[in-house]
Amino acid sequence: MRPLIFAANWKMHCGPTEARAFLDAFLVEHAPAPGREVWFFAPAVSVATVAAGLRGRAAVRTGVQNVYWEQTGAFTGETSVPMAADAGATAALVGHSERRHVFGETIEETGRKVRAVLAGGLIPVLCVGEKLDERERGDTIAVVEGQLDAVRGLDPQALSRLVIAYEPVWAIGTGRNATPHDAAEVHAAIRHHLAAVGAPADRVPILYGGSVKPGNATELVAEAEIDGVLVGGASLDPASWFAIVQAGRD
Ligand code: PEP
Repeated sequence: MRPLIFAANWKMHCGPTEARAFLDAFLVEHAPAPGREVWFFAPAVSVATVAAGLRGRAAVRTGVQNVYWEQTGAFTGETSVPMAADAGATAALVGHSERRHVFGETIEETGRKVRAVLAGGLIPVLCVGEKLDERERGDTIAVVEGQLDAVRGLDPQALSRLVIAYEPVWAIGTGRNATPHDAAEVHAAIRHHLAAVGAPADRVPILYGGSVKPGNATELVAEAEIDGVLVGGASLDPASWFAIVQAGRD
């Protein structure tokens, strides 16, 4: 049984002071429910604050939004996996579309990062997704499969620790989102491809991301193939985030 994961990606928002205030507001309302997890991908400078704020809470996790694959050294501005872990991160986003398209991160680099995250004992959340022109050309599955090449060659045990986030680039921060049915179709193709590269694919959670809001979260997580959501903009307000993590609860 895969957990249902609600993951907040705060992007370049919420320094330590704001992060603390966010958690104070959110945790007053939040009550954990069986089979559901709430994850926070904070900027690196806020990871320790978030980890401290969540300490002792059930079914929550602190993550970092990006890491470098080297452990230490002359890489000014970068955060290594051991450093993120020391600050309290137990998961890391890899290959978010903003990393790929704003910072030019390649598939080869995402592969190195996934391996470094696994080697450091953290959970990699590998983000994949097509651009609008790629979707319009009918290339969605080919693009996503190409991005999944980052995990080719990992052994089944390592592959079983992966989380995938399908985030169509045209849906991120735009207010446009894939229909639950369209997203579920891509999720099924991702699962199929993971099985083909040797992953225990039925154990790998696949999240959807792209303009998820309180108003559409329930129909998304109702799809059997959608194991949760990765949420940017709507995770920045404690009330809206609380409404999203309640999605589908009676
Ligand atoms: C994201 O940052 O991963 C994301 C999906 O952003 P938004 O929810 O704002 O589209």
